[in-house]
Amino acid sequence: MKQIIDHIVSTRNLTLEQLAGLMATEDQEVVGYLFHQSHQLAQRIYGNKIFIRGLIEISNHCKNDCLYCGIRRSRTDVHRYRLSKEDILQCCQQGYSLGFRTFVLQGGEDGWFTDERMCDIVAAIRQQFPDCAITLSLGERSRESYQRLFDAGANRYLLRHETADPKHYSRLHPDDMSYDNRMHCLHDLKEIGYQVGCGFMVGSPFQTVENLFQDLQFIRSFQPQMVGIGPFIPASGTPFADRPSGTVDATLRLLALIRLLHPQVLLPATTALGTLHPQGRELGILAGANVIMPNLSPAAQRADYSIYDNKLSTGSEAAETVNDTRYRLGKLGVEVPADRGDYPG
Ligand code: SAM
Repeated sequence: MKQIIDHIVSTRNLTLEQLAGLMATEDQEVVGYLFHQSHQLAQRIYGNKIFIRGLIEISNHCKNDCLYCGIRRSRTDVHRYRLSKEDILQCCQQGYSLGFRTFVLQGGEDGWFTDERMCDIVAAIRQQFPDCAITLSLGERSRESYQRLFDAGANRYLLRHETADPKHYSRLHPDDMSYDNRMHCLHDLKEIGYQVGCGFMVGSPFQTVENLFQDLQFIRSFQPQMVGIGPFIPASGTPFADRPSGTVDATLRLLALIRLLHPQVLLPATTALGTLHPQGRELGILAGANVIMPNLSPAAQRADYSIYDNKLSTGSEAAETVNDTRYRLGKLGVEVPADRGDYPG
């Protein structure tokens, strides 16, 4: 099996059988070797730097009804909120003084945030924080909208593809959402010039190893600048509330494989990983991740952005504890600079 890992390192490719073998193996020496190779590769490219992004959850209103998501439209028991422009700028200000140089504005697909309103917010951040990267994660919008936001000063866009198999996609989403449009959006974003992030949930309902293989092949061909993966975690009040979570172990193996297949990728150790394991973030880094995204949202709203149950937004996931995080990660031999952390080249 170690030879297979060496082969993946040298060819940046793998077969379905190799993936199935690496996901199933109980040989901890092999798994340790996989993580070691991946962590080493991340360090060869990025040195010992781990990049931070300040996550600002701007709205939990959403017009979509994704079957897995805790803020889906049909959940009537969720307390809905949206942040004002002033709230968002205040979060950026707080983040800036803590050393954040990337702000990620994420939210449900909330029609209140028209192009006009969103461009106004992006332009204000661009003006007040000219040395910072602005990442948006606001779901599917028109090409024209993506272009306007880019022109207003946004640099990056995160839109997980969720699954690279159209049939699997249709089992996770309602009929009014389409795999084709998701892919279309990702290609539009790239053509416009954004640094683009795709990604998927590990252990989502109905996911097979063939689906994971398709996800990895998609990442190889699309060559995104960022890939966000994290375990699926059930959310109460959704059709998948009783489904089992994805596992930390499978997520770590996939993080490592993504690093080996696409060495330069910016790869976060996500909140979902930290939610399932108290050392999730550290384990993610040791498996090849090189980004963390602490929560910069106003404390009063954090609990309402409950995309899955028990989502962590305090302690190590809170932006205000970033100096503790710096200290703890320092023990792994990595540093957390005040840096935009752009994709190389
Ligand atoms: N609306 C934007 C979008 O669709 O990209 C951003 C917000 S959406 C809630 C962000 C991501 O949360 C989704 O892409 C999905 O992968 C993840 N997510 C949603 N529900 C989840 C769950 N139950 N477990 C783990 N991740 C989940």
